[in-house]
Amino acid sequence: MSAPSWPLEKSFTSLPELLFEHTRATPVENPSLLAINTPLVKLLELDESILRSSIGLSWLSGNSAPPNTTPIAQAYAGHQFGRFVPSLGDGRALLLGEHRLSNGELYDIQLKGSGRTKFSRGGDGRAALGPMVREYIVGEFLSAVGIPTTRALAVTITGESIQREKPLIGAILTRVAKSHIRIGTFEYLHARSEHAAIEQLVNYCISRHYPECQEAPDPVYSFCKRFIERTASLVSQWLHVGFIHGVLNTDNITISGQSIDFGPCAFIDTYDPATVFSSIDVNARYAYGAQPSIMHWNLARFLETVLFLLDDDTTKALEKARDLLQHFETVFHADWHLGIRAKLGLNTTQPEDAELATDFLNLLFSNKLDFTQSFRLISESSLPLEPNHALSHWHKKWIDRIHLSKNKRSTDATFSAMKQTNPLYIPRNHIVEKVLSTCQQTLDSKELDKLLSFLRAPYTEVPATEVFHTPPPPEWKGYKTFCGT
Ligand code: AMP
Ligand code: MG
Repeated sequence: MSAPSWPLEKSFTSLPELLFEHTRATPVENPSLLAINTPLVKLLELDESILRSSIGLSWLSGNSAPPNTTPIAQAYAGHQFGRFVPSLGDGRALLLGEHRLSNGELYDIQLKGSGRTKFSRGGDGRAALGPMVREYIVGEFLSAVGIPTTRALAVTITGESIQREKPLIGAILTRVAKSHIRIGTFEYLHARSEHAAIEQLVNYCISRHYPECQEAPDPVYSFCKRFIERTASLVSQWLHVGFIHGVLNTDNITISGQSIDFGPCAFIDTYDPATVFSSIDVNARYAYGAQPSIMHWNLARFLETVLFLLDDDTTKALEKARDLLQHFETVFHADWHLGIRAKLGLNTTQPEDAELATDFLNLLFSNKLDFTQSFRLISESSLPLEPNHALSHWHKKWIDRIHLSKNKRSTDATFSAMKQTNPLYIPRNHIVEKVLSTCQQTLDSKELDKLLSFLRAPYTEVPATEVFHTPPPPEWKGYKTFCGT
């Protein structure tokens, strides 16, 4: 029998060398597998038994690299909390290579927590188990509700402890992404006036992520436009499941339009657009309701890097950039309305719809109601509250609105469609924290797998699982997340 192999491609290394550094993972003492993502293994047409074997474990822990692979750390820059940092890069990650599916799709396979690289600055290159498991959970949920996202293929325990405020269990996440190119990758080149390299990177992104733009009259403009559309729709989808990314720095925004880097991310419970969970986001820059405008800001940073490709005439280039940013707003609003209409079961367009949606959100806010539970309750034709005049009044109007005569489908059909749109299960902060702490105690994935079984089918109620979908008890008010780096 021949030795197991994992034939990974390396198209990224065709790009200018200043974008990456050949690197090796730092071996770990005593690796063991916490979890393998079986649905993703299947999707990637991989062999789970190889990944679970000792050679597989050695690849996933960075103790060896699959034959003929040449891992790299990628360079990028980024605006962190508004401040430009010209050199960030994979300080604790490496790209093993790119995995091709039989249908031609290409996925980056990255190890996160694999040791120091040229880009580590003061860091130790390592990651802790808790945050890596959180990243796994969030990716699975976003994927289950159809939101573009990077996902975890495996979580490996290194057998080493890492020093943070206190010693923590070290772990490595195997991350799968359409690519790890970020706005920050463009900024890295822009800050160094590497114009030819930016042009190469644009062409690479078009052929890898936006092949439809190749035939457009102006491929670069069309690429920017499509990228902006994907990003606008991403943010709108986040809002509709109550997701707060937490660190929307430009280095955490992928060019492919996937969600990435779930550090201090969390889901809102009571509806309040000003909600912030991240302990480091002291100015609420990345609050729930700020995400669309911050993404708009991030896209402006991106457009600065490709401005010279939009037009030789700077005035014209700026005009195009302004149009593109305006396009973000247009697409975001359209997508947001489309999403909220689906959440409210509105199947036709009526003049009162926008107001109906805003009124409901205002009622959730003023009554401090749980966002996820409220949408789910109305989908089950209940009210999210004890008798309350304003809410009952709204509910009457809404029931009238979804009547067959206006909505062109039976109320029952509306309710069942809503139940396929409004998840019952989300990664509730208090539940996620409990699972993370169990994983750290038991070093097995039993509780994690149980939570994932609900999150992967988040619309389908499983009997006797109230603890998984009930809003947090009051002592969870003021919950904070930490970056976990
Ligand atoms: P993040 O907050 O995870 O998006 O990371 C921001 C930057 O810090 C990236 O360049 C990371 O590679 C780097 N970084 C985060 N944690 C570490 C660490 N423990 N060691 C080295 N670099 C790190
Ligand atoms: Mg990051």
